[in-house]
Amino acid sequence: MGTKTLLALLFTLLVMMRGLLALTALFVAVLGKETFEGHQVLRIVAKDEAQLALIKDLEDMIEFDVDFWMGVTDVASPVDIRVPFESLQSVKIYLETQDVEYSIMIEDLQLMLDQEQQQMESGARVAQPRNTDSFDFSRYHTIEEIYSFQDMLVAENPNFVSKIVIGQSYQGRPLNILKFSTGGTNRPAIWIDTGIHSREWVTQASGTWFAKKIVTDYGTDAALTAILNKMDIYLEIVTNPDGFYYTHNSNRMWRKTRKPNPGSSCVGVDPNRNWDAGFGGSGASNNPCSETYHGPSAHSESEVKSIVDFVKAHGNLKAFISIHSYSQMLLYPYGYTRTPVKDQAELHDLAKKAITDLASLYGTRYRYGSIINTIYQASGGTIDWTYNQGIKYSYTFELRDTGRYGFILPANQIIPTAKETWLALMAIMDHTFKNPY
Ligand SMILES: [Zn+2]
Repeated sequence: MGTKTLLALLFTLLVMMRGLLALTALFVAVLGKETFEGHQVLRIVAKDEAQLALIKDLEDMIEFDVDFWMGVTDVASPVDIRVPFESLQSVKIYLETQDVEYSIMIEDLQLMLDQEQQQMESGARVAQPRNTDSFDFSRYHTIEEIYSFQDMLVAENPNFVSKIVIGQSYQGRPLNILKFSTGGTNRPAIWIDTGIHSREWVTQASGTWFAKKIVTDYGTDAALTAILNKMDIYLEIVTNPDGFYYTHNSNRMWRKTRKPNPGSSCVGVDPNRNWDAGFGGSGASNNPCSETYHGPSAHSESEVKSIVDFVKAHGNLKAFISIHSYSQMLLYPYGYTRTPVKDQAELHDLAKKAITDLASLYGTRYRYGSIINTIYQASGGTIDWTYNQGIKYSYTFELRDTGRYGFILPANQIIPTAKETWLALMAIMDHTFKNPY
């Protein structure tokens, strides 16, 4: 074949591929799924406080529609922002004219989302699991698949696992929690939740793995068995079900709840700014269009209020662990105030032990400390409220990674993430068990 023919063939192939791409785009448009073609994730590093302020100003420049993946902390810490294709040039010019340095972390977000989708669909073609042993933990699952996993786990372990519906989401989905208990009434208990921010997919996937791990290890792992002989574990995997459904069917980058805001076209409240702890203070927004909108009042979101009611009614929770991603951090209160918690020293030492155990598996490095000193001021956060309720061992995780993939962590990292996180969870649970209060 001559070079000319080869070139012609290549050209034809390219044209065909473009056609295919256009067709895919059309298909997506028909299905009503938001696309992120040409969206980039930029990593910005401020040289000084003045540059930090310039980056923070981007939050208020609504016309740029910038989505903060990792918010403004301090001069030493990078900020990750997703910039829509339409405003990419303006944002880059804004940064460049102010001499702010940035690099491109994700070149085209949609390409990564397409890969993620392909992996999910190739997994879905395999027959639906009939039991939790054949459940594929190495891929991402829909809310229906996770709910059916939960029901299978309960059916397989009727004397150990039960499902409690603690409320309904705004759109009427059940707020399910799994209870792991070997008996007794109102035993001291540990709470774990994942997915309160719906786009943090590795958290719901890890939560599913934790559920199976608890069942597998009870009776074989001495430490977990000892804990469960005296305490219960509660696990809410899909803590923001409306948001989670929306990330699968409409907008992969959705973080908030799905309740409409009267007088605004923007939907949803940040459920990690909606708690009655410094509610409405610095580190939360009163703009319904913001990703950190705190909502009209504390506990306005049923996804939050249902947990509040559960915690109060139970009255005997000893540890409360709320799991997010990403940035690899283990955090304790407070987020809304600089005043240190009275158990600061103990929480700090335990965090250090937990992240050391976590790192022992694959060397994954975590930072740790109070929220306000480690990430940024955030008011109305989950664990500030639980700590103020008297739950001493209140922690928040930010799972993998540190920004290479951010929220679009490849599915082949789910099991390693869950496994290493479990070691940290065990450290916290074991300490809670051995230090009754
Ligand atoms: Zn989060």
